[in-house]
Amino acid sequence: MKPEESLQELIGRIGLDAAELRERLRLLDWRHDDPPRLQQAADEASDAHQAFVDRLYEHLGHFPGPAALLSDPAGVTRLKHSQLDYYQRLWRGPYDRDYVLGRLRIGLIHQLAGVEPKWYLAGYRLYLDALHGALFAEHPRAALFASLLKAVFFDMTLAIDTYGAAQRRALEDSEARFARALRGANDGLWDWHLEHDRLYVSERWADMLELSRDALGEGCAAWFSRVHPDDLPGLRQAIDAHLGGRTALLHHEYRMRRRRGDYLWVLARGVVELDPQGQRRMAGSQTDISARKAVEQQLKHAARHDPLTGLANRLRLDELLQQTLQQLAKPGARQAALLFVDLDRFKLINDSLGHQSGDQVLVEVGRRLQQCLRPGDHLIRFGGDEFVVLLTDLASMGDAEQVAQRMLDGLHHPLHLGENTLVVSASIGVAGLRASADTAEALQAADLALYRAKQAGKAQFARYSQELQAAARRQLELESALGQALERDEFVLHYQPICQVDAGVPRLVGVEALLRWRHDGELIAPQEFIPSLEESGEILRVGDWVLREACRQVRAWQLAGQTRLRCAVNLSSRQLQQDDFVARLTDILMDSGLPPASLVLEITESQLMRDCTATLIALRELGSLGVRLALDDFGTGYSSLGYLKRFPLHILKVDKSFIDGADTESRAISRAIIGLGRSLGLEVVAEGVERDEQLDFLQHEDCRLAQGYWFSRPQPAAELQRLFGGDAGEDGLWRLLPADTTTHSRRENHR
Ligand code: C2E
Ligand code: MG
Ligand code: MG
Repeated sequence: MKPEESLQELIGRIGLDAAELRERLRLLDWRHDDPPRLQQAADEASDAHQAFVDRLYEHLGHFPGPAALLSDPAGVTRLKHSQLDYYQRLWRGPYDRDYVLGRLRIGLIHQLAGVEPKWYLAGYRLYLDALHGALFAEHPRAALFASLLKAVFFDMTLAIDTYGAAQRRALEDSEARFARALRGANDGLWDWHLEHDRLYVSERWADMLELSRDALGEGCAAWFSRVHPDDLPGLRQAIDAHLGGRTALLHHEYRMRRRRGDYLWVLARGVVELDPQGQRRMAGSQTDISARKAVEQQLKHAARHDPLTGLANRLRLDELLQQTLQQLAKPGARQAALLFVDLDRFKLINDSLGHQSGDQVLVEVGRRLQQCLRPGDHLIRFGGDEFVVLLTDLASMGDAEQVAQRMLDGLHHPLHLGENTLVVSASIGVAGLRASADTAEALQAADLALYRAKQAGKAQFARYSQELQAAARRQLELESALGQALERDEFVLHYQPICQVDAGVPRLVGVEALLRWRHDGELIAPQEFIPSLEESGEILRVGDWVLREACRQVRAWQLAGQTRLRCAVNLSSRQLQQDDFVARLTDILMDSGLPPASLVLEITESQLMRDCTATLIALRELGSLGVRLALDDFGTGYSSLGYLKRFPLHILKVDKSFIDGADTESRAISRAIIGLGRSLGLEVVAEGVERDEQLDFLQHEDCRLAQGYWFSRPQPAAELQRLFGGDAGEDGLWRLLPADTTTHSRRENHR
């Protein structure tokens, strides 16, 4: 601060305005005749002044403090001169503003030089003593007055010291409190004079960075050069925002480099203010927030990783995928791929060895998969037994397939779990990433490829393709159209004859109703849509419709003369599981008028496996209604012969795969099933008869009933009648017409 500025500041601090000055003079009882009185006697005092100044300096010279300041003779001469000037002014006035300023200025200089107030007062006391002596030398009580002066001035030094000391103590107390608070807050302080670029930082500020305050430079470079390069732009923006008035406070977290080169997370808080000169100063604190940041980091890590395998989880995958897709959009980017890995039959491991073993398998699988990756690739546990691999920077998709193959090979090695040795396998879907895709699409593509790999027999990888996508889309479209098929009357039944073949010309004993869906001008086969109907539960309503329609049609044929015609209808397991199935069926039979004995319900082995007791009860009830039961596709499932005894079955249908097989094993199995049926008292129907020799074989084996393309493909009701003789024979059954009399000859039906 310049001297003139300090003086102004001092006047402000003392509060020396005109009123204060007036009051001071009044307190001293200063009257209008005081100045002229002094002025007139000024000359008279001048000799005394001369003598006194010498004496004063001589007296002070006896004390170590003043003596140290008065060691330079030239300086002492200058001081004596200005002292004399001062006494002149003291007597002559004028006692104006200039006078006051002069006194304050001298006071400031003396204070700076180290002149203590007690020396001041001693000087004045000596001065008054000297002048008293000069003016009233002959007065008899001059010595007394001098003694009084000494006593009074002694008291004055005590009073001034008391005030001073008390003020100093208050100041020290507040400073100590401030210092304690600072230590307690553990924060560093900074004060930045922007216009002059002067940065003051506290000891603690520097300490946090393991630096000493003296080693730091003066300007803000000492601060900014230590900010982490990634964080610097953000800090500058935050400061600009505050300086620009856009934020009420600077509040910013960033990293600072410590002496050893590592980084410390700090929080800087601050405000800008204008100083009395209108210049900007920003000041605030710096807090060490590294502990909090570490906890935050741990939480962030925990939220993004799977606790079992330590691998990244779906949340992290989402972030990684977004980053990768952004990078792919940049020019010159190499390819990236996503692998969806799903363990085959993992549920079996969990169910048979327990979840703990299952967990161990997952950890080991994660480890093996990780070994197949390069640094920069990512392995994610997607959930359960599903893993996702993100491969970046690939030259071609062939590389991704190689990784997939490596993973399959790596998993194939036996895995030892305590006493157990397992071999796990996985199916993998491989999909290339397109920059234009979003994360959900990318995952969906890999998932679709995975589905394909599973369908193709597991323990392999499949690559995503447009065709896969198209097939999936068609499936989806079909499924949504399927929901409305019943209302739109798009279902139709075709009927396939079941013929008696043991007595010369085959005769029609029954028909199997087979469901078709007319959609978009196509006739869709049941395998394509029945699984979705079963999944959605819609099979219940559709199944009811099939039963009702088949019973109605067959009853109509019965009334037209085919009195003994049987109606076979396929059932889905979900239909059998309905509590009121028997009641509904009874309704349908009553409505159609079809005798229960004319109805055959076809069920498969897998249906029998499910929920045995409930199924058994339902089947018994059906049996007691008089309805007959056929076991469809016999031989293709678990073929537990126990079922044949346990369930109330009437008919076995030999699956067409055995009839079709020309090899000796197939024939042996067919022969065995026919024999088994006969000995258990069950009727046997051979399915899928297409060729003469198959029919010859069946006839040779005494199999009474057969169905297949040799007789007829499944046909709409109206067409079927034309294959058979219009009149029922003597046994009430239609005979198959000779080939040349039918429009659709049998030969044409052959594949
Ligand atoms: P399924 O009950 O075993 O029906 C016999 C299947 O064999 C029919 O296929 C039939 O067209 C076919 N087939 C008959 N003769 C021959 C032949 O000589 N050679 C060959 N290669 N195949 C022959 P479709 O109509 O495609 O039905 C397939 C399966 O769909 C049926 O097998 C049945 O399990 C199921 N299904 C059909 N309709 C219904 C229905 O209304 N409800 C339920 N739940 N399932 C049905
Ligand atoms: Mg069937
Ligand atoms: Mg079958």
